[in-house]
Amino acid sequence: MNIVVLGPPGVGKGTYAKRLSEILKIPHISTGDMLREEIKKGSELGRKVKGYVERGELVPDEIMIEVIKERISQRDCEKGFILDGFPRTLKQAQALDSITKIDIALNFLAPKEVIIERLSGRRICKRCGAIYHIKNMPPKRPGVCDICGGPLYQREDDKPEVIERRLEVYKNTMKPVEDYYRDKGILITIDASAGVEEVVKSCLKVLKEKGLLSD
Ligand code: AMP
Repeated sequence: MNIVVLGPPGVGKGTYAKRLSEILKIPHISTGDMLREEIKKGSELGRKVKGYVERGELVPDEIMIEVIKERISQRDCEKGFILDGFPRTLKQAQALDSITKIDIALNFLAPKEVIIERLSGRRICKRCGAIYHIKNMPPKRPGVCDICGGPLYQREDDKPEVIERRLEVYKNTMKPVEDYYRDKGILITIDASAGVEEVVKSCLKVLKEKGLLSD
């Protein structure tokens, strides 16, 4: 089952996608995580994309399409995948269709105030990538990952001055992508203002209704 998750930065896509990936046993592919990993490693790709990522701007389509093509051709994607952060432009959506068939696009929505609150409180483990929130999902010890003991940090682009820009970029570029999947009849809107487990439950219900998942 090939799933795309859509929704503004901070709506919780990564968290829902991770839960769904555990339940459905297909990999969660986050292009943002992949790029941050490359930047951390200082690879050629990392050096190319660093400036864009840190400014909250989109990395050029040609680079991203190559990255995703390579990733979904790997063996762990044979039974499907959950794409998080891709496509971000109409061109990427069209390119993705020429590589593989997307079964469903889950579009997570929540009010802007909820999103800003979630983003500015988000903290991530430097070692294992686990996601926390200083208020809604705090670690047991402040600044330390519950899972691996690694240090938690705030993403450069989760700082307030960059958040507004990312939301603006998202709104401008994603409308055609949403329309594209709506026209194909595979865009499903999910209310993401509820708690994580409730949102995940709504997703599973939709997958069953669409015949993509048996009981
Ligand atoms: P995310 O973690 O999904 O919010 O992504 C963080 C940053 O990585 C974005 O602000 C972009 O700079 C870059 N990025 C991730 N995915 C894409 C994509 N599909 N196309 C272009 N840029 C991307």
